[in-house]
Amino acid sequence: MIHFVGAGPGAKDLITLRGYRLLTQADVVIYAGSLVNPDLLQDTKEGCEIYNSAYMTLDEVLGVMEVSEEENQSVVRLHTGDPSLYGAIREQMDALREKKIPFDICPGVSSFSGAAAALEIEYTLPEVSQSLIITRAQGRTPVPQRESLTSFAVHQSTMVLFLSSSLAHKVREDLIRGGYDKQTPAAIVYKATWPEERKIVTTLDRLPFVMEEEEITKTALIIIGNILGDFYEKSKLYDPSFTTEYRKGIQK
Ligand code: SAH
Repeated sequence: MIHFVGAGPGAKDLITLRGYRLLTQADVVIYAGSLVNPDLLQDTKEGCEIYNSAYMTLDEVLGVMEVSEEENQSVVRLHTGDPSLYGAIREQMDALREKKIPFDICPGVSSFSGAAAALEIEYTLPEVSQSLIITRAQGRTPVPQRESLTSFAVHQSTMVLFLSSSLAHKVREDLIRGGYDKQTPAAIVYKATWPEERKIVTTLDRLPFVMEEEEITKTALIIIGNILGDFYEKSKLYDPSFTTEYRKGIQK
């Protein structure tokens, strides 16, 4: 059996209880290189075979899974954050389905949640933004034209950019061209929840320059939006005059 497990954003204790149990019981662990906290691997059982997928191709990863399955071993494929985001698990799952190898998925805490906790922010604020766009700038991996940053800029929704720390100049240009005010707040969180975590709040205009000054080129998220600012409306749910299923509102 193959278990895809989300390792969480970095801090060792941000893996789920289920993921941790699977990890400690695994005969084989294939972990996603530099982004998974190596401390997690210390808790694998004695004799557990450990592979770093940073040095492997898809076929090599599948090869290890296939051999392990033939030997009736339990395999944990440990992905960073939550496997559903930029995890490249679809291609693994499709190959496993074809080979009739059973698998399941254990979700994880994504780095975008880790970054929000680090910044002490809420991505969705009444009257500011009620949506979160999770995307990336186009680098070596193409992004469909209809999902260009310029087109997303129209919505002015909160935006979290993965895999874009080396493309901050392009992010700035595209978002400003798409209609963002240069003074829109922007934040960078480097290695959220790791001991070496760093967080900076700046403006969209200053973003690439601040990142250069701080020498941040990888393992970071860029967060853009007015939710980083001071204005918002309080939630209706906790408004004294608002009646809900559980509480009758009081009219003043
Ligand atoms: N599945 C992962 C994302 C994998 S893509 C998740 O849910 O978080 C790898 C990218 O995620 C990195 O380039 C970086 O943009 C981001 N990332 C992963 N861990 C991070 C962390 N602890 N802090 C900031 N960004 C992180």
